[in-house]
Amino acid sequence: MATGWGSLLQDERQLEELARQAVDRALAEGVLLRTSQEPSSSNVVSYAPFTLFPSLVPSALLEQAYAVQMDFNLLVDAVSQNAAFLEQTLSSTIKRDDYTARLFDIHKQVLKEGIAQFSPQTVFLGLNRSDYMFQHNADGSPALKQIEINTISASFGGLASRTPAVHRHVLNVLSKTKEAAKILSNNPSEGLALGIAKAWELYGSANALVLLIAQEKERNIFDQRAIENELLARNIHVIRRRFEDVFEKGSLDQDRRLFMDGQEVAVVYFRDGYMPSQYSQQNWEARLLLERSCAVKCPDIATQLAGTKKVQQELSRVGMLEVLLPGQPQAVARLRATFAGLYSLDMGEEGDQAIAKALAAPSRFVLKPQREGGGNNLYGEEMVQALEQLKDSEERASYILMEKIEPEPFGNCLLRPGSPTRVDQCISELGIFGVYVRQGKTLVMNKHVGHLLRTKAIVHADGGVAAGVAVLDNPYPV
Ligand code: ADP
Ligand code: MG
Repeated sequence: MATGWGSLLQDERQLEELARQAVDRALAEGVLLRTSQEPSSSNVVSYAPFTLFPSLVPSALLEQAYAVQMDFNLLVDAVSQNAAFLEQTLSSTIKRDDYTARLFDIHKQVLKEGIAQFSPQTVFLGLNRSDYMFQHNADGSPALKQIEINTISASFGGLASRTPAVHRHVLNVLSKTKEAAKILSNNPSEGLALGIAKAWELYGSANALVLLIAQEKERNIFDQRAIENELLARNIHVIRRRFEDVFEKGSLDQDRRLFMDGQEVAVVYFRDGYMPSQYSQQNWEARLLLERSCAVKCPDIATQLAGTKKVQQELSRVGMLEVLLPGQPQAVARLRATFAGLYSLDMGEEGDQAIAKALAAPSRFVLKPQREGGGNNLYGEEMVQALEQLKDSEERASYILMEKIEPEPFGNCLLRPGSPTRVDQCISELGIFGVYVRQGKTLVMNKHVGHLLRTKAIVHADGGVAAGVAVLDNPYPV
């Protein structure tokens, strides 16, 4: 497979001129982030980092990723509804991981109160993003392998709709008009907003709002605004509030309708609350209040738990998908084809064997705790040290082990404010956005709504765009 833009990457002066043009176009298109110096204000903004060229992606893998997205939506939905599966799967993890344990406590409490879950009209909304890398097989062929599925705060759907114009611009400057036309249009934020709008409509109260749970310091505001703008265009109003505001001013009425500043809330959309540092005691209480309400939560606590690495690992066990998606052998086959090797580290022989395998060949594995947001995984020597330290302790159950995906590197320029234009050896990660809405037992919506390609230099093992490692990109189908 051809992997890159060949001689174009060799002309330094041309690269610099193209980069200037690309950056100006990115700014004009709204591919924006707030700065790290002023993350709470839009007074000064800059461009979100991106690649100079779109990166080559085999069309067949792109199609495969799209084709399996509805199956992943069904799977996440099935797991979130299966309290017994969640309880069993997370039982060892929650003994050793306080953060997952707290999420699980809220889940238990909500179940015990038997709210919403048991009403036939209750609405569930899933907005997720399934992420993949392209494993470079020994015979040279690439294979689509899932890295993880994000069931909370899956981001960059807004900015990803703005980057195709930038890459088309770069190719047009080079008079590569045929190539420019191959860059796919992409509009995840519209699709995500349509999911929220459907949930809002089914909630059925014309004056109710969408409550976006926001962080005080939010560099990625323009990504979120893209969704807000789509909703407003449909006459659905969004208010942005922090957990702290919910703690102070949120309330439930006797029917558990949620009110914020006196206004009824139809849908709660979380862009916060996916990592432990985001929860003070007050924030935990606010989260519980939101979960107890009959507003549609995106995601509800069970769906957040369905996105844990531990659940991902248990789903890969032989026979598990068949139990969760009975009578759907084709969906099961499509899902399973994307699974990499995943191994439990629970105490016992199976976990011992996994640890022995990883210690014998550290470069082939990744050690993952139950965390989101990038920068938490351990590789190589660090993984070995952690495993040596953990291996006789029950704490190891709070991690999972994963086969390391090895894509074939290619050259591209990663454009970042303040960094020189230079060619790096890179690898990409493809995300597909999925949306589903369920009312009671009826699935009302299930679709894929676009993609996100992120690319990083191979020197960085971990980390996404928000973590400052990966940059926005577009697939160039080949
Ligand atoms: P997070 O929830 O923190 O985003 P991920 O599982 O997505 O956790 O891992 C973060 C990053 O680490 C990924 O974006 C990817 O670059 C890298 N990574 C994760 N798992 C693997 C793997 N199995 N093989 C290779 N790289 C991986
Ligand atoms: Mg990730």
